[in-house]
Amino acid sequence: MVATQVGRAGDATRPEVGRAEFEHAISADVVVIGAGFAGLSAAVRLAGAGLRVVVLDEAPRLGGRATSFTDKTTGEHIDNGQHALFGCYRETYAFLRTIGTDALAPLDPKLSLVMADTTGRRAALSCPPLPAPLHLMVGVLAWSALPLADRWSTARMAPFLRDARTRGAAAAAGEVPEHLTVAAWLASLGQGPVVREWLWHPLTLAALNQSPEVAGARAFARVLGELFGAEANASALGVPTVPLDALYAEPAARFVEAHGGRVVRRASARFSVEMSSEAIFVKMASELISAKAVICAVPWHALGTLWADGAPEGMVDIINQVNDLESEPIVSVNLWFDRQVLTDRQVGLVGTQFHWAFGNELGGNFRENRLRAHFRVAMVASGARDLLRQDNDALVALAERELGQCVPGAGGARRTHALVVRAPRATFSVAPGAPARPRTITPVPGLFLAGDWTDTGLPGTIEGAVRSGHAAADAVLRGR
Ligand SMILES: Cc1cc2nc3c(=O)[nH]c(=O)nc-3n(C[C@H](O)[C@H](O)[C@H](O)COP(=O)(O)OP(=O)(O)OC[C@H]3O[C@@H](n4cnc5c(N)ncnc54)[C@H](O)[C@@H]3O)c2cc1C
Repeated sequence: MVATQVGRAGDATRPEVGRAEFEHAISADVVVIGAGFAGLSAAVRLAGAGLRVVVLDEAPRLGGRATSFTDKTTGEHIDNGQHALFGCYRETYAFLRTIGTDALAPLDPKLSLVMADTTGRRAALSCPPLPAPLHLMVGVLAWSALPLADRWSTARMAPFLRDARTRGAAAAAGEVPEHLTVAAWLASLGQGPVVREWLWHPLTLAALNQSPEVAGARAFARVLGELFGAEANASALGVPTVPLDALYAEPAARFVEAHGGRVVRRASARFSVEMSSEAIFVKMASELISAKAVICAVPWHALGTLWADGAPEGMVDIINQVNDLESEPIVSVNLWFDRQVLTDRQVGLVGTQFHWAFGNELGGNFRENRLRAHFRVAMVASGARDLLRQDNDALVALAERELGQCVPGAGGARRTHALVVRAPRATFSVAPGAPARPRTITPVPGLFLAGDWTDTGLPGTIEGAVRSGHAAADAVLRGR
């Protein structure tokens, strides 16, 4: 066995303890398992603080659930699903600033949403640059999509949003009864049927990836508080102008490596904890890495699979708890056309099974495209349990039909190519009664958890993942 030291880690390697089967033993300050937003944001913070970090991911591509790949037919590099950021993604933008890419997901100056229904009726919600939550109230009052009674009904959300502004979104949302669904909460606040259909329901699906009849009101209230209870630009949309791996995964890996760390792909990690020693041992193929701390930034459903010799006692309850988290799917259908079909960058679809249409002809990726006809629309269906079971042809036909109904101008365009992407475990359920989410700090010394599914109070989002990554890194830096 060859013992190598990555960086300036203390000598935590214990080559004598029956590990002769490993060709290499490495020591590092911290091993991060999982290179999604959570793991990479943790690794960047730790590497920036001078610690030697090894990041392992079992996938060939970095980025986890927010990743990109090359479509074989067009040669276009596209995301595994359209991702959008918001102004309230404070820690995400701080992370992107650190790796130098925040300008690649520019925020709109204000919230502006174009919605359309299956009759082709189109109405834009535009919120003026007023203090929150006045900006939303004024925007909705002027929104032609809604009958007057529904516009006025949104004033009943104002006390909650003012509370979120004064005390913070977490405190205000904490008072929403845990057992309520979004639909029940909205009904209790007298929200009219049209404002529910055109605003609150699309927002629920986009933010929680679950229908309002199933999703928990507390998680939704937290999102509303973050979006509309803070500064007016908290609700502004930021759509990446480059594929996700160029936005964060590759730049973050370069940052870690430039700071003396290592990022390893196709590295399925298993680890064992030796309570008697000062180190945690992570096994990766023929390598054995000893570290003072390990951050597990894998998805909730993978936590239980990480243990080489069975999970230590302190982790068993946590693993059982997260194994009970249910998963929610997202189905995306990418449609390529011979001409531009969307004049807006994104359109919310009302009364349809696909909920958003994103026009990527405006995104810049098409330059790589091999087809002459290269205008791509990404149709996104959230909480899409029913669609998950349909075959590709049926999904493409449905996506094309709904796009044509909601955006009548699209009808004359010729589709040249289509690609379906299924993400069966895109996010975890935030339904009332879902199991409690675990904290960053575990009962096992040196072992920390990160991931959008940890106890951030946010639903499964990029911002939740980055906050969890930063929290884990900060806990390591504090020495616990
Ligand atoms: C299609 C889709 C659209 C979405 N849209 C949005 C959006 O618009 N806005 C938004 O905020 N959020 C969105 N999300 C949610 C967002 O992508 C996630 O919340 C976020 O990416 C989760 O990051 P994470 O780091 O916590 O987990 P992950 O991204 O799941 O990363 C975990 C990593 O761990 C690795 N791993 C697992 N087991 C092992 C092992 N044994 N050894 C080594 N590595 C391992 C995995 O390969 C993976 O890379 C969307 C998700 C999907 C799927």
